[in-house]
Amino acid sequence: MNSGTDTGLSQANTLFESYFGYKASHHSQAPGRVNLIGDHTDYIDGFVFPAALSLKTSFSFAKNNSNQVTAVSSGVGSETVFELNGSQVEDWGKYLAGVAWAFTEAGHTLSGLDIAIHSNVPTGSGLSSSAAIEVAAARAWRKIDNLDISDVELALLCKKAENDYVGIPCGILDQFACSVPDIGQAVVLDCKSLDYEVVSIPSEWLFVVINSNAQHNHDDSGYETRVKECQAIAEALGLEGLKGLRNLQADDAAKLSDATLQKRARHLFSENARVELAKTAMQSADAKHFGELMTESHISLRDDYQTSADAPDELMDACISFEGCHGSRITGGGFGGCVVSLINKKDKDAFVKHVLAQFPQGSYEAEVSA
Ligand code: ADP
Ligand code: MG
Repeated sequence: MNSGTDTGLSQANTLFESYFGYKASHHSQAPGRVNLIGDHTDYIDGFVFPAALSLKTSFSFAKNNSNQVTAVSSGVGSETVFELNGSQVEDWGKYLAGVAWAFTEAGHTLSGLDIAIHSNVPTGSGLSSSAAIEVAAARAWRKIDNLDISDVELALLCKKAENDYVGIPCGILDQFACSVPDIGQAVVLDCKSLDYEVVSIPSEWLFVVINSNAQHNHDDSGYETRVKECQAIAEALGLEGLKGLRNLQADDAAKLSDATLQKRARHLFSENARVELAKTAMQSADAKHFGELMTESHISLRDDYQTSADAPDELMDACISFEGCHGSRITGGGFGGCVVSLINKKDKDAFVKHVLAQFPQGSYEAEVSA
């Protein structure tokens, strides 16, 4: 599972040396994540079921004895430069500046850094490259400035960065999944209490992540629209804001007069329930049931929550048409990106071949297994 580690770090090291002209003194990394089931349930304080991937974002860095951060990232044309506590950063550096801002708000004093980044987490594909860069940045400052911050606190600070600095109203799923579990671990997380349980993946199971290569774009604001719709549901039902939707009941959707909000509520209730059922299915090694829940989840995201898109729908159809595929679903915030499927390990090559023959614009991205 860790085969990418050395490669990522050595590429970040090489980039650092060629860009800054000296050797980096420190390193940090954070993984991308795949959400196995439970999407759009985090910001309503519900349940999610992610696994940390072996895909990683790697930082090589050193103190630069200034109040400034200069960062360069392979695959991104331009460097980013900002003052700690300075003005709002507009380019990709906002993910780093946001973390610096959240740490400073929490009372920590940070060093100025030179940073080189190399990542193999694809951006805008639902595998949480944004949380990976945030958590790798947070780990960098935690390490170099000897900050006493737990992994859970670190995730919360990164969420604050993405919510209040970058401006995405996401829940805790991504930052938690990139900060807390070990690589390859699948965890069920209660987004209210932040209690989580590691669930062992049965030995013959394999989750395969295929990228539709149709990227989502947060600027399209579909995500924000869903959050606003959730607020409208809570208001209509007299629940206490977004977090109150955790307690949605099966018959609540029917109480809403707006047909769109009814569909949204149906997804939230059913998806939340599916996480608990999926946990039981994994614990009892019931691949058939786990897969059925994944497929139900995709249909719910496609038809009720309407956060899928043509490319992931077609890709999901290609995945599910493989005879040994137990189930398949879009993963992450949606509007494009990756599809995760449950198959048996022995079927991997045949599965990938089948899917890419039917959906040639797709590409194999990652896998998770015991
Ligand atoms: P996702 O988290 O699903 O990959 P987001 O839209 O939330 O998609 O985040 C993607 C954005 O995060 C990119 O457009 C870029 O601004 C930033 N980002 C992520 N990884 C990197 C990286 N390695 N280097 C520079 N920017 C990155
Ligand atoms: Mg993101």
